[in-house]
Amino acid sequence: MQAELIIAHAAQLLTVAGGHGPKRGTAMADVGIIEDGALAVRRGRIVAVGPTNEVLADFAAARVVDARGKVVLPGFVDPHTHLVWAGDRAGEFEQRVAGATYMEIMASGGGIMSTVRATRAAPLDELVAQSRARLDRMLAHGTTTAEVKTGYGLELQAELKMLAAIALLDAQHPVDLVPTFLGAHAVPAEYAGRADEYVDLVVDVMLPAIAQGVKGYGSGENDLTPNPSPITPVFCDVFCDQGAFTLEQSRRVLEAARAYGMGLKIHADEFEPLGGTRLAVELGAISADHLVCTSPEEIELLAQSDTIGVALPGTPFGLGHHQYTPARAFIEAGGALALATDLNPGTCWCESMPFIIALACRYMHLTPAEAITAATRNAACAVGLGEETGSLEVGKRADVIILEVDDYRHLGYRFGTNPVQTVIKRGEIVKEGSTA
Ligand SMILES: [Zn+2]
Repeated sequence: MQAELIIAHAAQLLTVAGGHGPKRGTAMADVGIIEDGALAVRRGRIVAVGPTNEVLADFAAARVVDARGKVVLPGFVDPHTHLVWAGDRAGEFEQRVAGATYMEIMASGGGIMSTVRATRAAPLDELVAQSRARLDRMLAHGTTTAEVKTGYGLELQAELKMLAAIALLDAQHPVDLVPTFLGAHAVPAEYAGRADEYVDLVVDVMLPAIAQGVKGYGSGENDLTPNPSPITPVFCDVFCDQGAFTLEQSRRVLEAARAYGMGLKIHADEFEPLGGTRLAVELGAISADHLVCTSPEEIELLAQSDTIGVALPGTPFGLGHHQYTPARAFIEAGGALALATDLNPGTCWCESMPFIIALACRYMHLTPAEAITAATRNAACAVGLGEETGSLEVGKRADVIILEVDDYRHLGYRFGTNPVQTVIKRGEIVKEGSTA
């Protein structure tokens, strides 16, 4: 049979295959290694995967990539990013390393509010251009699908502008983007001391406009204008933590979003345990993210639920903290763990999933195999795309990366350089033959 592209003779081809849904508990260690592995692609999808001699016996293609001495695995899925923002907080980083805490900087009106001001002020094309540069680097480091949150607008027009930026980037860039509405990311300065009133705005004004997808961001006008291609977020998220939103406020936002048919996510237990993890399980959220100071009871509860735990080790690293998600306890209790960058300008400007894997191995004590499962298959499930991407199986999108190394354990082992040589997105080679 004819294929469009064949990758053959991989030293190791990691399928991360196995039934439906995420891998849980001890199954996370099984990445499905095929030695001298190959796969064939037609119309952007995988049509064969197996030992090279078997795939080449059944398929021929005009383009054959020789992966001798290399590792082939699914493209990374980054299931938690704040990719779209304007400006930077390099000055704040300098303050922080000199001793100021994240919460002190936030309480003094800096921190996230400076990004909100810059993002509100940026024209759409500028916002897209700044974010595209980051998305290019994500792709270069092997990310082929990413979730992207709003939450630097914190008013309807600016949140719609962020959704428009996500839609434009998704349309223009090879990386597939999954939009999440995070209107409840922080209480904006103009609502200081009136968090409940801001939650009213999110629930009564923003969510109805955004979830119904009937209005979009106008081109230069301040009023709402019909958007020819409205983007409706797939998920709604809330930052449930000290200095952000209480458990009750978080519940209001998520229950309202659920009524609109949106999937649910939550930032839980990054700094203080407020019960967000238990809430995520109760409401059937697709994921609970951060989980740094989650109680052992809630870790157990989460592990036994269908909610995926998303660990973001770049964030404690970025803050110079020493406490990380208790991933071993979660996996040993049978949980499904995913990894993400948390790419954002305040705590973690990191576009690299290989670096996140290196952190997860060291500070969360994952094996390289477990970390790869968490960054591919389980991450795809955490954004609702487990049937489409995240593993190399017949019928799935041909989202594939080729590493310059011959043993997958170099992922995790090495850090600070990029091991990703070739990136294939929906069957198209979008980065080729270089590790720069
Ligand atoms: Zn986040």
